Amino acid sequence: MEEILKKLVDEISSLATEGREITYSKNAIGITTLLFCPLKAEFRQQHPEIKTEGPEIDDGYFFEKAVKQAATNLFGKRTLIEPTIPYESPQGVRIEGHPDLVIVGKEKVLALECKAPNFLFSTANGIGDSILFCKNGQTVSISPHYQLQARIQKFLLQKHFNNKEIVHYIFAKTLIRSKSRLKKVYIFHETQTAATQQEMEYMISQFLNEKSPRYPWECHYCPYKKHGICEGKAVTQQAAAQTLKEVPPHLKNLTESYIQAHTTLKEIEAMLKEALPPDTHIELPLNGKPTKIGWITRTRYIWNIPKLFNTLGKQIFDFLYLKPRATAALEEAIQRSGKDPQQFREKTSKTTWKAL
Ligand code: SF4
Repeated sequence: MEEILKKLVDEISSLATEGREITYSKNAIGITTLLFCPLKAEFRQQHPEIKTEGPEIDDGYFFEKAVKQAATNLFGKRTLIEPTIPYESPQGVRIEGHPDLVIVGKEKVLALECKAPNFLFSTANGIGDSILFCKNGQTVSISPHYQLQARIQKFLLQKHFNNKEIVHYIFAKTLIRSKSRLKKVYIFHETQTAATQQEMEYMISQFLNEKSPRYPWECHYCPYKKHGICEGKAVTQQAAAQTLKEVPPHLKNLTESYIQAHTTLKEIEAMLKEALPPDTHIELPLNGKPTKIGWITRTRYIWNIPKLFNTLGKQIFDFLYLKPRATAALEEAIQRSGKDPQQFREKTSKTTWKAL
């Protein structure tokens, strides 16, 4: 019976991809290829039988199909389904973009890129609406690679329809948290800025010269790793510290927006600090969770360690940890006793996100 049911799932996946063949001119590169590890593009050619699969992929294709059909019903011949929008780079590379849907009007061109991610973080708490309209950095957090793809599409469309205004949206169907429960919504996320020519050229030169993943999570989800074709690689070029001048243009834009948002946050925080009376705080919902902001009094105990040691003896080590700031002094004490600190410790490394 299980075999029959698996065949049913296979059939669902075939229905999802049915009629979804995107064609490229010889040697042309797609936008998605430009966004991710270039090795994947090479392996895709060598192993066409390997596909990325899963219910999320099927859901994405089904959503895309429904949107394309709905737009064709509504706008008829003005609807272009995955049209080829080219860009010829001075580096001798042809890029071809295929926005899911382009609706051509007299003065404006509306482009939609459909996505069906499992979940998006949102600040749209407590609203009952099933449709959200938002812009960059507002209401929902759209993944940076979706945003970059959208900005590249907008750039290509601006060049292609150079006498019309381009209005571009990421159209997502996804879960967000609303009043501490999950809710499925349609999101129209407007792409406010187009990629620049400088960014395009930077990404193309990276594609040609940097054969490594672009995001730390890429290898984990890569089908070529799953099939044992590639062992995976580190995101080398982004691992080391870089100054703002050195980072790629698309990261520079994101970083500058982040600094701007952080500065605004600090300014508002300073105003709130002034406005709130001492010992007062506000409880508000943040991402569905009650969160306190304001002046909060917390009681803290400062333990007398030598006294505790006299009473508890060795048992005290169950409750203590070494403070990092005492590390140098501890190393010195160990060395004075004629021993090497390495005998007393193991070294582990973990990369974590450091925010402003
Ligand atoms: S496993 Fe990593 S390095 Fe290898 S092709 Fe996939 S993303 Fe690229």
